[in-house]
Amino acid sequence: MSHLLEVKNLEVNFKTYGGEVKAVRNVSFHIDKGEIVAIVGESGSGKSVTVQTVMGLIPTPPGIIKNGEVLFEGKNLLKLSKREMQKVKGSKISMIFQDPMTSLNPTMKIGKQIEEGLIVHQKLGNTEAKKRAIDMIRLVGIPNPEERYNQYPHEFSGGMRQRAMIAIALACNPELLIADEPTTALDVTIQAQVLDLMRDLKEKTDTAIILITHDLGVVAETAERVIVMYAGMMVESGTVRELFENPRHPYTWGLMESIPDHTSAEKERLVPIEGTPPDLFSPPAGCPFAPRCKYAMEVCLSEMPPAFEIETGHYSRCWLNDPRAPKAEDLVAAGR
Ligand code: SF4
Ligand code: MG
Repeated sequence: MSHLLEVKNLEVNFKTYGGEVKAVRNVSFHIDKGEIVAIVGESGSGKSVTVQTVMGLIPTPPGIIKNGEVLFEGKNLLKLSKREMQKVKGSKISMIFQDPMTSLNPTMKIGKQIEEGLIVHQKLGNTEAKKRAIDMIRLVGIPNPEERYNQYPHEFSGGMRQRAMIAIALACNPELLIADEPTTALDVTIQAQVLDLMRDLKEKTDTAIILITHDLGVVAETAERVIVMYAGMMVESGTVRELFENPRHPYTWGLMESIPDHTSAEKERLVPIEGTPPDLFSPPAGCPFAPRCKYAMEVCLSEMPPAFEIETGHYSRCWLNDPRAPKAEDLVAAGR
């Protein structure tokens, strides 16, 4: 079966005065119809650049797509003209962002903003578009849809604005929704509600969702599969279950220690991973996590770890998975 979206060997650089930054390095993944896949990593790990490339949002220059394909329903999106891409975005793939205020038009009623795509791309008449807009407002759980239809973004709370963004994104019934940190700007309770909503919508509409987040707690609650990115690369990937039960990369272990407890009112639970990601102008030849990794061995500094397959569909780019490597516990016991 072919996948809904397949990203193959994607490499994206950015030209800067200091040289070329290697923002995305050899990233390959897929998503099937109706699936929720999370991409998780710290800021600067390449997760946003990856999905922005998929959406044709990377300005070239300064961006350079060095290599790769983005196959959607069999077509390479990287080869489409602006116009063709616009069509795909209006009907097949939608995106929502962290801060709905920057994507909502402050001078236009919410209802009209939902209708826009329906009128332009789906060629609905005004009455039909209005009916669908009100249905969408109801679907995303905003009370009093008829009244809300006529309100402006500033009359909505932060959580309601994110719901409105989701309504706009889903109005045209896309096959794929890309959500880039959709709940990061929201407080914990509202965050949980928006994630519930996304899961619920996936059930109702069969839309596949790529969820970008820096928070493994969000992944655990929402996604079916997860891709962990570090320094522009995929360092671990697999089903959420596999990854939480049997994580096989020290960076993933670090992220797990830094999962905030969403059920607790007390926010101070974060154990940040010490150190900073490598400079992506000239990334190290070996494992990019080595300078921060307490298990680093000699081979880690000189050779890039391959993607070891742990179980079917579970990969880790870490030398500890090599059968010849010592056990992580022994390395720590040896005084590292
Ligand atoms: Fe640490 Fe080596 Fe694994 Fe990289 S390859 S994460 S440095 S043990
Ligand atoms: Mg980002």
